[in-house]
Amino acid sequence: MDFSRRGFLKLTSAGVVGLSLGQLGLDLKPATAYAAGLKIEGAKESISICPFCSCGCNFLVHSKGGKIVSTEGDPDYPVSEGSLCCKGAAMLSMHVGGHRITKPMYRAPYSDKWEEKDWDWMYDRIARKIKDTRDKYFIEKNDKGQVVNRCEAIFQAGTSQMDNEECAVHHHMLRALGMVNMDHQARICHSATVPALAESFGRGAMTNHWIDIKNANAILIMGGKAAENHPISFKWVLKAKAKGAVVMHVDPVFNRTSARADFHVPLRSGTDIAFLGGMIHYILENDKYFKEYVVNYTNAPMLVNSGFGFQDGLFTGYDPKSRTYDKATWTFQMDENGIPIRDESLQDPNSVFQLLKKHYSRYTLDKVSDITGVPQDKIIKVYEAYTATGTKNKAGTIMYALGWTQHTVGVQNIRTSAMVQLLLGNIGIAGGGINALRGEPNVQGSTDQAILWHILPGYNPVPKAGQDTLEQYLDACTPVSHDPKSANWWQHRPEYVVSLLKAWYGDAATKDNDFCYSWVPKCDPGEDYSYIYFYDRMYKEKIKGGFVFAHNPCQSVPNTHKARRAMDNLEWLVVGEIHHTETSDNWQRPGVDPKKVQTEVFLLPSAQRGEKDGSITNSGRWLMWHYAAVPPIGDCKTMGDMIVDIMNRVKGLYAKEGGAFPEPLVNMAWPEKYDAEAVAKQNNGFFTKDAKVGSKSYSKGQQVPSFTALAGDGSTACYNWLFGGSYTEEGGNKAKRRDLSQNDLEAKLGLFPNFSWAWPVNRRILYNRASVDPQGKPWNPEMPVISWNGEKWVGDVPDGGWAPMAHKDGKYPFIMHTHGFGQLFGPGRVDGPFPEHYEPVETPVKSHPFSKQLSSPCYKFVESDMDVLTAPADPKFPIVLTTYAVTEHWCGGAETRNTPNLLEAEPQSFVEISHELAEEKGITNGDVVIVESARGKVEAVAMVTVRMTPFKIQGRTVHEVGMPYSFGWTTPGCGDATNRLTPSVGDSNTGIPEYKCCLVNVRKADKVTELARK
Ligand code: SF4
Repeated sequence: MDFSRRGFLKLTSAGVVGLSLGQLGLDLKPATAYAAGLKIEGAKESISICPFCSCGCNFLVHSKGGKIVSTEGDPDYPVSEGSLCCKGAAMLSMHVGGHRITKPMYRAPYSDKWEEKDWDWMYDRIARKIKDTRDKYFIEKNDKGQVVNRCEAIFQAGTSQMDNEECAVHHHMLRALGMVNMDHQARICHSATVPALAESFGRGAMTNHWIDIKNANAILIMGGKAAENHPISFKWVLKAKAKGAVVMHVDPVFNRTSARADFHVPLRSGTDIAFLGGMIHYILENDKYFKEYVVNYTNAPMLVNSGFGFQDGLFTGYDPKSRTYDKATWTFQMDENGIPIRDESLQDPNSVFQLLKKHYSRYTLDKVSDITGVPQDKIIKVYEAYTATGTKNKAGTIMYALGWTQHTVGVQNIRTSAMVQLLLGNIGIAGGGINALRGEPNVQGSTDQAILWHILPGYNPVPKAGQDTLEQYLDACTPVSHDPKSANWWQHRPEYVVSLLKAWYGDAATKDNDFCYSWVPKCDPGEDYSYIYFYDRMYKEKIKGGFVFAHNPCQSVPNTHKARRAMDNLEWLVVGEIHHTETSDNWQRPGVDPKKVQTEVFLLPSAQRGEKDGSITNSGRWLMWHYAAVPPIGDCKTMGDMIVDIMNRVKGLYAKEGGAFPEPLVNMAWPEKYDAEAVAKQNNGFFTKDAKVGSKSYSKGQQVPSFTALAGDGSTACYNWLFGGSYTEEGGNKAKRRDLSQNDLEAKLGLFPNFSWAWPVNRRILYNRASVDPQGKPWNPEMPVISWNGEKWVGDVPDGGWAPMAHKDGKYPFIMHTHGFGQLFGPGRVDGPFPEHYEPVETPVKSHPFSKQLSSPCYKFVESDMDVLTAPADPKFPIVLTTYAVTEHWCGGAETRNTPNLLEAEPQSFVEISHELAEEKGITNGDVVIVESARGKVEAVAMVTVRMTPFKIQGRTVHEVGMPYSFGWTTPGCGDATNRLTPSVGDSNTGIPEYKCCLVNVRKADKVTELARK
């Protein structure tokens, strides 16, 4: 008998097979001989998921006697096919490397040391701190006398490291406490993605999925470094390339992604809209757009209010005092039935198409080149190659990440790409779409579960002051369409919100009490509770305590000096972590006397991924279950355990003592113990009464079959409507599905419909109704995602089961939009319905060629003595700094810096400098240099390299340097946060900070200092 290694593993994995090989009637001798050389002989095999990027690589954990002995990539995971990048390959040492916190640790106020404590002591004291702070600072009414029922004195900086189930209970906990100062990694990595993609197509997620990248004919990677930061995604890029696809990388830095692309085009950081606006101009001028698609499926034919206009860089309605727009003219002209008027000839001067053409007519090649620094021939090369996909039989996909999101125009960067894709007919089709390269493995799920101040789970807006009743709230956020061909899916919002309230408050939520709507905290309109704002509140001593779970804001928040000082003001801090971080140990950071820092710190040791059950959602929206291979080491616990146990103590205190607004706490539907499987069921939703769906009867307590069964009358409860259908009576927990079977068509596209489960309703390619013509025939019959056979759809789960658009009862394809079309004109964003080039807040130029409006008129900022900004083209700081991650480290680096083999591969902070700049500054490769901005300085090793290119901007040379942001002072003890240089300015729509460009200067260090920390 011949044994491959994988075959052997499958046969011997005790956790999977459960039978001895002898029982299977196999001759064990060859296997035994093979196993003798393997440390996994006799081991249990469990499936887990890498806790880093959103490729979500599954890995196999082998354990013996309750200890992990080996980890390796899972060959059955269709995305990775067994591969892992260096971070995934380090899973064994991540779990058992001896560098983890394994005991609850307490730091008393003004103490200079940690003390070990037991969990009971920690939980009791944390609960007391929460209650005392909440009771003292609870706000029942705002300054206007409106009921808001919120607690601003407690913050939370949360995490996409939590599973979907942990996120669900976490959000529940935070809102029950009345919290609004709450955010998580998505704010600082991909918050720009959701409003950009949702404005354009209807949903805020990656449109296609990892494997589908192989189906593209052209791949534009811009604002991201797929090979570095989402390594396994790149195998699908290379598969496409091997089949003839052209791969383009547009990025300030030449890197591993560029090296494998057909060509790399360097552009100056912060000029992406100019580059893409030029592409829109090129498409329209050269008739490169897919006319049938544009006319039928986008809002190009719709007529805009004739009062709408654009002048000198501003759209109509701008108020310079409030720095906001009155959007009264950003509306569509309606007919007598309240349906938008369309001109399918696209000739009306008020049509979106003509306004678009006019807007981007200014984006000529010479101007684009002049401001981006990209030579004209290189611009044309990209435009020609990419726009060749604007036909029926070609597909182009765009891959981006933080290079687009982390700007004051982050949302509009992505919007511009979405408009390019709509013009080329690249949305909904195989090999098309916009593939947002999401960050940590569950940043998609944790965003769906809304660990964010501004939304409730399932993308429902947080209630605002003045929305006193559920009806007022729902009226304000439930869209109405009068067009019978528009599905207008968000008309179902009431069902989703009421079901959420029922999940939160159980029997206490009744129709008579508005399902406890008044217990949900209300935010003040116009107020922002995201990172840069709540860190400013903390700095100004308005926040007293809070939670940081699996996150390192002292490393990752911009203007980190200020963030660290702000945290000194806290009275108490709860940190759930795997390692000591710059945040947990802020009180003993270099240059600070611990005896002067008041903060009481509770450091809770957290389980690693292989030690817990739960689900994560990969970037392609696949909901996947992972299993606890072993119990958490030492005294570690899952974050779900911590949350549930802490809240039970808080609930107990309120039940016993009363306190400020105790109702949402004492009445919350809350488990005694955390159970991921039970929460997964609640995420799907269940009936609270006996019910009938179609011909099928369900008893109270049974799972709803889909979100279409959710009701607005209190007869269903559901933590998150998007998960509806993921855990049903018939199918069980579908996140656990491991069936790789596919029919020929599915296999051709790489859909894997039976592996895991994708939201919504297991649809693998969003907006796939746009992959067919209005009669339902695929634009490209060679690559049909769905097709209408005259009676029903075949192929992928259709994006809405109605007949195709041209049929009598058919619907438009973009079902989440009120009017049913892809939005070239996007009136929902605060800074304009069309993207416009604005310079970064710190810019090396005093003007640009498109208008007199230098920077975004609406960007967000905070003011304090520590928020210093450099004026445009200030000679003191003439160099552009861009920041990024490296393959070997993840985000702020707390986990990967503590993993010896990864630290060995990338041991210290560096700054990439072009040869030209190095010569100008007298710097040689390997010198220690000081990089300085208006906010601080950091020390780094100079990497003098051709990877950086000086740019020719407006006739003069502008230099750019690049630094990783993954190094801190705790480990390895050299280098510190690059974010000490970056400013607290944010995108107009989301507040995502502008990490990707600010102004600095660089000089050789006088001597090799210990660390430049001022
Ligand atoms: S970091 Fe990403 S690509 Fe690397 S193993 Fe983990 S999930 Fe896969």
